[in-house]
Amino acid sequence: MVKAVVGANWGDEGKGKITDMLAQEADIVVRFQGGANAGHTIVNKYGKFALHSLPSGVFNDHTTSIIGNGVALNIPILIKELQSIVEKGVPMPDIKVSDRAQIVMSYHIKFDEYEEERLAGRSFGSTKSGIAPFYSDKFAKIGFQVSELFQEEEVLREKAENICEKKNVVLEYLYHKPLLKAEDILEELKQYREMIAPYVCDVSTLLWNAQKEGKEILLEGQLGSLKDPDHGIYPMVTSSSTLAAYGAVGAGIPPYAIKEIITVCKAYSSAVGAGAFVSEIFGEEADELRRRGGDGGEYGATTGRPRRMGWFDCVASRYGCRIQGTTDVAFTVLDVLGYLDEIPVCVAYDINGEITTEFPTTPLLEKAKPVFEVLPGWKSDIRGIRNYEDLPLNCRRYIEFVEEKLGFPITMVSNGPGREDIIYREK
Ligand code: GDP
Repeated sequence: MVKAVVGANWGDEGKGKITDMLAQEADIVVRFQGGANAGHTIVNKYGKFALHSLPSGVFNDHTTSIIGNGVALNIPILIKELQSIVEKGVPMPDIKVSDRAQIVMSYHIKFDEYEEERLAGRSFGSTKSGIAPFYSDKFAKIGFQVSELFQEEEVLREKAENICEKKNVVLEYLYHKPLLKAEDILEELKQYREMIAPYVCDVSTLLWNAQKEGKEILLEGQLGSLKDPDHGIYPMVTSSSTLAAYGAVGAGIPPYAIKEIITVCKAYSSAVGAGAFVSEIFGEEADELRRRGGDGGEYGATTGRPRRMGWFDCVASRYGCRIQGTTDVAFTVLDVLGYLDEIPVCVAYDINGEITTEFPTTPLLEKAKPVFEVLPGWKSDIRGIRNYEDLPLNCRRYIEFVEEKLGFPITMVSNGPGREDIIYREK
């Protein structure tokens, strides 16, 4: 049985916590897209961890953690992260890396930096992890697949020379930066080969066999629906698909194998980087929510940047859930809202005087104004509650209001960062 855990919003919904929790019953957790540009924060018996490239199953000794072919694989970061969790007392996890995954090279990171520098004020707010240059090269067919590391040096040299020829034109004339040398690329590849060799595996065969044996497989998404390059807020998106459907491609499993799609949806909104954010709030109201948000404030797990804050957006979240193919919604960080007397919720968009509940394309989204409905707060701390009926009435009303607007069942309510902070609900 394959389940996917994905985000409904702009990322940072708490997917790491939900994956870590569900991973206790999973045999295999697979990362299928994205790279080390976003992080998951996980709190469990070993401590608090910000994972950027390891799947959130690494804390369970019975779980195999897989980096699928769809991932932007940064080998030094992966190895460093592995060492750092082992140093903190986590048993050495069973890691497998797809022989079809492609490698983030140091020049991808450089190109990301140079481009942000060139764009200056017009930048996309990249985390400078090399993700866009990496995926560009993958689809331009000049990337390095893990399997290629094990080829004869001459073949690699020829490819490296071709890469230098193309990239050096841009480096010289657009960015005015030091040029690449084929020799350095070869040396980098050699180092990566040694670092990654113990983990390389034919992942799609492994997953095929695991499915036949009835194993529990979790696909772990990064970021959220609205950052998807096709269905998100293009161009302020990421460079690989954030949708559960892509889990089939990025892990190498049949699309029909994905039986449950658990879409993680946060009880208020936050976003990083540029782009339209209709329900955004500012000033002291935003600062307070940011300070109280998540577990220790809403600041980027990778960059430390303060996140942009907003009220819950039913329009964006309903669309985000629909485009994922949601079977279950996990509604997270609800405990954070306990300080509010009243909670505004964005229920529709006003676009040039027309009221809509359908999420539009970017040019219209830029013009959208939020239509708010205000719900009463519950003014209490709901952490520690385990039964839905024990939640304050106004809190249940908030959940049921959102559920009705989403049109998908909220079957899990997360009321704290820990694994055990979860309330299950029947569909
Ligand atoms: P991800 O990228 O979707 O995994 O999300 P992040 O890890 O960036 O952000 C989620 C943050 O919220 C982390 O700091 C989590 O520890 C925290 N978190 C997750 N669920 C809850 C919850 O229900 N309540 C609170 N207070 N924090 C939560």
